[in-house]
Amino acid sequence: MSFKAVRVDKTGAGQTVGFVEAEDAELMDGDVTVRVTHSTVNYKDGLALSGQSAIPRKFPMFLGIDFAGVVESSDHPGFKPGDEVIADGFGLGETHSGGYAQKARVKGDWLVKLPAPFSRAEAMAIGTAGYTAALAVDALEAAGVSPDMGPAVVTGAAGGVGSVAIALLAKAGWSVIASTGRASEADYLTRLGASEIIDRNTLSGPARPIAKERWIAGVDNVGSHTLANLLSQTRYRGAIASCGLAGGMDLPGSVAPFILRGVRLLGIDSVQCPMGPRLSAWARLARDLDRGLLASMTQTVPFERVFDVGAAILKGQVRGRVVVEIGG
Ligand code: NDP
Repeated sequence: MSFKAVRVDKTGAGQTVGFVEAEDAELMDGDVTVRVTHSTVNYKDGLALSGQSAIPRKFPMFLGIDFAGVVESSDHPGFKPGDEVIADGFGLGETHSGGYAQKARVKGDWLVKLPAPFSRAEAMAIGTAGYTAALAVDALEAAGVSPDMGPAVVTGAAGGVGSVAIALLAKAGWSVIASTGRASEADYLTRLGASEIIDRNTLSGPARPIAKERWIAGVDNVGSHTLANLLSQTRYRGAIASCGLAGGMDLPGSVAPFILRGVRLLGIDSVQCPMGPRLSAWARLARDLDRGLLASMTQTVPFERVFDVGAAILKGQVRGRVVVEIGG
């Protein structure tokens, strides 16, 4: 039976991206077939949907870097028909057909069983962005920084990673400084747990090598000058988790924070993250993420609207998280 999907293909003129009625024969190799019910729109999805990015690297392919669904058939010992699962990373939507399709065939080794208490929709409200935020908070804790040492800063605060990071940090007892370009979202950020809101423009200019110490920890979604400023204003032996590049991929800074203050820069990668830390991050989300707060940062859209949301996220216009209803 055919199923609905967003397919990217490559032509001489570039990429074509659009809805298609797809066939099972188009599914890629894997030992588990999943009926996909929900996906989401992450920043990376926005780039891929634009048809002008280097995100998809196999053609033709279905886009979508994550999904939740129900196992239809499995040759993997860990999964059986009827199991509810989530998948993100491992090349989904990049080198392997992903979540913008009502059916997916993937390696069982990439799948995570839906963690209680979340529904499939809630798991995608979290999605790659929320799970990345949890990886960042885990990394900060592992680096030995704690709320009694000072505040934590979160950049790109009103976005997906930022929103979940604020909620998780606040729950863990941190005093959270939220950096945003959207002053209108101050109430939203305060409800998530931010205790101070700062204008992102104060962090977007060229950084001094070292500046007045402000925070002991941080989750950065912006990169470029913003990350350099975060580092230069980090307290002695603090740590910053680098998650994103919404403001640029460069890092125009100095080694001064590292060699004068012992500041640590922690790289966060959700895609190839091994199953151990991946499951720990989901365990943190299951334990610490208030489901009411999650609902308040989430909007739900039908599959048909995925291109609109993809365009909006690239313009920094999406607040929090978006669930895409893929199928029944
Ligand atoms: P969102 O678009 O939801 O959030 C990004 C936020 O960054 C925006 O909401 C905005 O926040 C801020 N922002 C956007 N443009 C700029 C700019 N030019 N300068 C400064 N700030 C800007 O994206 P996600 O939360 O899904 O992802 C955030 C980043 O993390 C992305 O770069 C994404 O690629 C990356 N990412 C990395 C992962 C990993 O494995 N390392 C996994 C998931 C995401 P505000 O309006 O509050 O200023």
